[in-house]
Amino acid sequence: MNLKLYERIEMKKIFLFACLMLLGSQLFGDDKVYRLRLASTWEATTPVLGAAAEDFKNYAESLSGGRLQIRIDTPSKHKASFGVFDFVKSGQYDLGYTSLYYYKGKDAKTMLWTAVPFGMTTDEQHAWYYYGGGRELNDKMFAQYGMKTFLMGSTGMQMGGWFKKEINSVADLQGLKFRIPGLGGEVMSKLGATINTVPTGELFMALEMGTIDAVEWVSPVYDMPLGFHKVAKYYYTGWQEPMGDCQLLVNQKALEKLPADLQAILEAAARLAGENFQNKGFYENARIWAELKAQFPDVQVRDFPADVIVALKKATNEILDEEAAKDPMFKEILDSQRAFLKIGREWNKISTVAYINNVSGIAGESAANPISVGSSGTTNPDSASSENHSAASDSNATDGKNLGATNRPAQ
Ligand code: CA
Repeated sequence: MNLKLYERIEMKKIFLFACLMLLGSQLFGDDKVYRLRLASTWEATTPVLGAAAEDFKNYAESLSGGRLQIRIDTPSKHKASFGVFDFVKSGQYDLGYTSLYYYKGKDAKTMLWTAVPFGMTTDEQHAWYYYGGGRELNDKMFAQYGMKTFLMGSTGMQMGGWFKKEINSVADLQGLKFRIPGLGGEVMSKLGATINTVPTGELFMALEMGTIDAVEWVSPVYDMPLGFHKVAKYYYTGWQEPMGDCQLLVNQKALEKLPADLQAILEAAARLAGENFQNKGFYENARIWAELKAQFPDVQVRDFPADVIVALKKATNEILDEEAAKDPMFKEILDSQRAFLKIGREWNKISTVAYINNVSGIAGESAANPISVGSSGTTNPDSASSENHSAASDSNATDGKNLGATNRPAQ
């Protein structure tokens, strides 16, 4: 090749530039591939929840242009659904996908990050977490364990459980053999129920054979595959888990080895996968519940009577206050949550709750078909009075679902 002098100079410049680019990418790790291992609490086949880990992996890998590569191990591989906290803390895994309240035996504060009976709904908790100081408190708590957590979705409102017999008073809880985990279980125990821990695979049989009288799980999309509705016809509305947050746990040292952009991508991927799982959960709950009602018309939804709710709330607050007295950080988190709940709930009451009650309470319209409300021109949604709320409660009682707040004590 016979190049002129200036062409040779240009070639040298290009070569030099390429060398600098290569050096730069090695220095700054631009194209370095980081392989992370994730332990999940759930199998990939667990409805909605299980698929979220795969969704997270896909987001993290595509957003990073392949610089993040994530391997997911489920319980069939790592053999410890509830070992995820320790896996990540010890560095055996870089990442964990789980729900923090499974680790209440290690630290009672973990419960405050998943669900608190009579506590916040998903909207309320996430508003507090992102804007009301929750995230900072979470960082402070998990720094002690050498971990960081990122929110990764919520199950949304959970149901109170499947019961073979109706609960008409606090006395009916005496001796009730009930499978209910977490703080809800402790509260029920305080009111006289016998709390059973039955492995998931044996729950249906236990309920059918009478080893347990009732079981709390999650909501229709999670409950229906387990078949509880075939042997227990009363489906109670919830009080114990008004949300069910899941988290991505990250080993702090593993996180610090990543460039800043990949750290941000991990958080973003967890948030995106979490949002998908929340939306999918709502959609699937609605779909499965409609299916279940049509196929099993004898299934009835019940609210716990007001005196039971009052007793459950009192016992909940006693347990929370006892924990707060033992651990200043528990108190700090609980106080912060309670302070936001006060105003968050007030806003919810005059907005979403009022809307649902008002549009469901218009005489002659079915609460199950709210979109048709007002389209006939015979009713004005804005004119729904408190009497309509009662009518909603009455008409809805025919299918067992009382949307009205009238029989509830102040929250
Ligand atoms: Ca539950």
